[in-house]
Amino acid sequence: MIEQAVRIGTFFGIPVRIHWTFLLIFAYILFTGLSEGHSMQMILVEMVFMLCMFVCVVLHEFGHALTARRYKIRTEDIILLPIGGVARLRNMPAKPVQELWVAIMGPMVNLVIAILLFTFLMFKNGWNQWVSQVDAEGLVMNWQNFLFILMVANLGLLVFNMIPAFPMDGGRVLRAFLAMWLGRLNATKWATRIGQIICVVLILTGVYYGAWTLALIGLFIFLSAGQEYRSVVVEDRIQNKSLAMCARKINDHLLEYQTAEEAMQILISTGQSSFLVTDLEGRTMGYTTAARIVQSVKQSPQTRIRDITTTEYGILQGHTPLTVVIQYFRTHQPFVVVHNENGEPTHYADPEVVENFLRLTERA
Ligand SMILES: [Zn+2]
Repeated sequence: MIEQAVRIGTFFGIPVRIHWTFLLIFAYILFTGLSEGHSMQMILVEMVFMLCMFVCVVLHEFGHALTARRYKIRTEDIILLPIGGVARLRNMPAKPVQELWVAIMGPMVNLVIAILLFTFLMFKNGWNQWVSQVDAEGLVMNWQNFLFILMVANLGLLVFNMIPAFPMDGGRVLRAFLAMWLGRLNATKWATRIGQIICVVLILTGVYYGAWTLALIGLFIFLSAGQEYRSVVVEDRIQNKSLAMCARKINDHLLEYQTAEEAMQILISTGQSSFLVTDLEGRTMGYTTAARIVQSVKQSPQTRIRDITTTEYGILQGHTPLTVVIQYFRTHQPFVVVHNENGEPTHYADPEVVENFLRLTERA
């Protein structure tokens, strides 16, 4: 899903990507506009409005990303999906106060935009004009009401995002508050429960008043609410684990002069996702992956293993925390070797080894 997003520019060093399905919104506006007999002028206003809304959403995401940067957390990119924006942070700050700031600065951007628009409209039209706009045909979309509706929409984004339930920003704010007393795991558990109760209230209110959008929003948030708790549980599980607990013993390594075809036999019998490669003297040269072996067998089975070996790899100690190992995979090489006290390689791990280990502990 996320791979199909196109980069439209880089701001403050953070790439902004837009998903192609985003274009469907404009097609939708055009289609409904035409079928309801709107003038092209009106359809154009609606499209420009949609564009402005998405600029506001991007600014909201920059609110998160730039606050995170203050805590030395990098943002991979900001992605615009038809359902909204996502700032993909490398990680969330561990300190509750920091998470609180990162979560709250997105909605605050929409508040600031709303205040600026309000101030501008007050200066331009004055209070009376403003009130009459709300009274009368205030919510008909045209150039005259454009900024007013944009202001209301930003307040809407503010309220919507501050619903205190995961995955909304409000859920994170609530968790951060609770985490100051309860610790992260319990805070997430309670924030999830409180969020789900609020969702039930939203759904019931929506159904009672026939406000189906509200009911749907409540349902959507309710369904995604548990996810954050599950991921924190996994995080908590990783917390006290070390590399030694999941690293696999190096039983089957490959020799640099072996062919891809020979390696394939070993691959089939072991099912390993990657292999340590050594030279004739048994010195570690690097590693190669199952995927590369399979590809080589397809293309030229006589390929020597040394030609598909990556010579850069990590050497980590057995007591390295798993969180550090996972981070290492992301930022360095997806292969690490564990040495014994004599400096001989005894174990290895790659992302798949770690993933399998975590899956097993989840079941336990
Ligand atoms: Zn947000």
